[in-house]
Amino acid sequence: MQSFMQHNPTRLWFGHEQIGQLKQELGNKGKRVLLVYGGGSIKKNRVYNAVLSELEQMEAEVIELSGVEPNPRLTTVHKGIDICRQEKVDFILAVGGGSVIDCVKAISVGVYYNGDVWDIITRKASVEQALPFGTVLTLAATGSEMNNISVITNWEMNEKRGWASPLAYPAFSILDPSYTYSVPLDQTVYGIVDMMSHVLEQYFHRTEHVPMMDRFMESVLLTIMEAAPDLIREPDNFDLRATIMYAGTTAFNGLLSSGTDGGDWASHQIEHGLSAVYDIPHGGGLGIIFPNWMSHCAEEDPSRMKLLAIRVFQVDPSGKSDKAIALEGIAALREFWNSLGAPSRLADYNIDSSRLDELVEKSFMKPQVGSYKIMTRDTVRDILIRSM
Ligand code: NAP
Ligand code: FE
Repeated sequence: MQSFMQHNPTRLWFGHEQIGQLKQELGNKGKRVLLVYGGGSIKKNRVYNAVLSELEQMEAEVIELSGVEPNPRLTTVHKGIDICRQEKVDFILAVGGGSVIDCVKAISVGVYYNGDVWDIITRKASVEQALPFGTVLTLAATGSEMNNISVITNWEMNEKRGWASPLAYPAFSILDPSYTYSVPLDQTVYGIVDMMSHVLEQYFHRTEHVPMMDRFMESVLLTIMEAAPDLIREPDNFDLRATIMYAGTTAFNGLLSSGTDGGDWASHQIEHGLSAVYDIPHGGGLGIIFPNWMSHCAEEDPSRMKLLAIRVFQVDPSGKSDKAIALEGIAALREFWNSLGAPSRLADYNIDSSRLDELVEKSFMKPQVGSYKIMTRDTVRDILIRSM
């Protein structure tokens, strides 16, 4: 196990009607609140009214920024920064899924930066100060509600970039599983694929003697796999929504990679390339890329895939080679995702090989892609071709 420091400053309020904590959380943080949300789902369910009622009770002065896109765009971040400066905003409240939260993180650090926030997102400038923000989560997927990571798309340049800062943790996050009842089936499935990918990417580490972490990760995967098929049948079941919601947070809040090398995030990098060029849903892209990344890597070193196959997918290893066990596990993962309704080929999004070179290039937004296996342009190309 590697040495580590564990600290997550986000206060998590989880459960039915926890929105009641909002007044207390905002109490001493100033009156001028920028409320940020997406394309309007919060107005079709009861979330917008619930949030506004809390803000009214504390006599907050509410300014709104709506229309944050899935795969949030730099242009919307710029809009938010301008509003914060003009309106002298004290606090930002993100109400939505990972896209709204990621956009708010970028607004929060951009307000105090004397230049284009894209410099921070592309890691050319560091964060000195950030406007505090909190979140009300409406979709179980990214873990952004309790981490310091944000992913922003520069659509003009077709670049989707992840960045992080110690100042980009939400001050608090409110998670009421009933707020996710209205998430449509496809988004529910994308969320499940995304959170499982986060666990799997951390699972593909090369650190020895981390049984606590390995077993944590296996249990999160097994729990999601137990609950997900039932949730698809019963989308209004509070307990199932709660299990999946907390799994999504746990999957990516720092806990699972404590003591390891952090795992291998090549699949996310390749998916970011896909979304940057074709604007597809993040979880949909991962569902296609991830099993192909695994089978590509298993050819050279199937050790971790084999462990996963035996421990999570209950593959019987007797009389089989390591590679055969690994491939059986990968097939089981693919089958599980497909059974929920996740896409399995890029053709499902009408993506063919016509922009393959560009997709390869857009996967290399960081100097190194992958760590379990370090990717080259050729290996990324192979994974994309397998995914077509
Ligand atoms: P999302 O893009 O935030 O939302 C997807 C869709 O779901 C939107 O159309 C949204 O509609 C709708 N929606 C959200 N809540 C709903 C509800 N309660 N009822 C009905 N519809 C609802 O999805 P996401 O998967 O959470 O976020 C994806 C983004 O996060 C991607 O850009 C991805 O790259 C990034 N990401 C970030 C991290 C991280 O750690 N920060 C990790 C993985 C991925 P409205 O817009 O109308 O609300
Ligand atoms: Fe993700």
